[in-house]
Amino acid sequence: MRIAVCPGSFDPVTNGHIDIFERASGMFDLLIVAVFHNPGKKPMFSMDERVEMLKCATRHIPNTRVDSFSGLLNDYVKRQNARIIVRGLRALTDFEYEFQRALLMKKVDPEIETVFMMTSTEYSFVSSSGIKELAQFGGDISLLVPKSVEKRILKKFSEM
Ligand code: ADP
Repeated sequence: MRIAVCPGSFDPVTNGHIDIFERASGMFDLLIVAVFHNPGKKPMFSMDERVEMLKCATRHIPNTRVDSFSGLLNDYVKRQNARIIVRGLRALTDFEYEFQRALLMKKVDPEIETVFMMTSTEYSFVSSSGIKELAQFGGDISLLVPKSVEKRILKKFSEM
């Protein structure tokens, strides 16, 4: 069975991420979307909220599972009996960061392969941080995130 892990902060999940999940899920028997607990980052949404939003947004993709983890990614990937990490790539800025991470991962654990999927043109400019910024100032994010995510972001800002 081919199992792949797609790790990320997903704070929150966007249509750009979902596009990658949909395309990657067709290439593997199981795609595990894993929310990473990064102690260095102050997320807008709690781990539970991010997992919940992902579950709702991936319900239509049958061979996808949502999970969360902390600690080393390579340990997590092996615990899932997977050997493949899927990451999405947007512009050059993503490349530099992803290139370093993939090489580091290869050094730590040569058995694990990182594969990259190029963004679809309509999502090349979509990022979680951009969405939050846009929503904060009243911009329309309805075409960039699922409805359930849009609702939660608007609620979060109204509570702040
Ligand atoms: P990070 O894991 O660096 O905190 P994210 O959680 O935002 O970043 O994203 C997880 C993965 O999805 C990363 O590989 C990122 O490059 C990719 N990604 C984010 N937005 C898009 C997009 N619009 N199109 C394609 N890939 C994307």
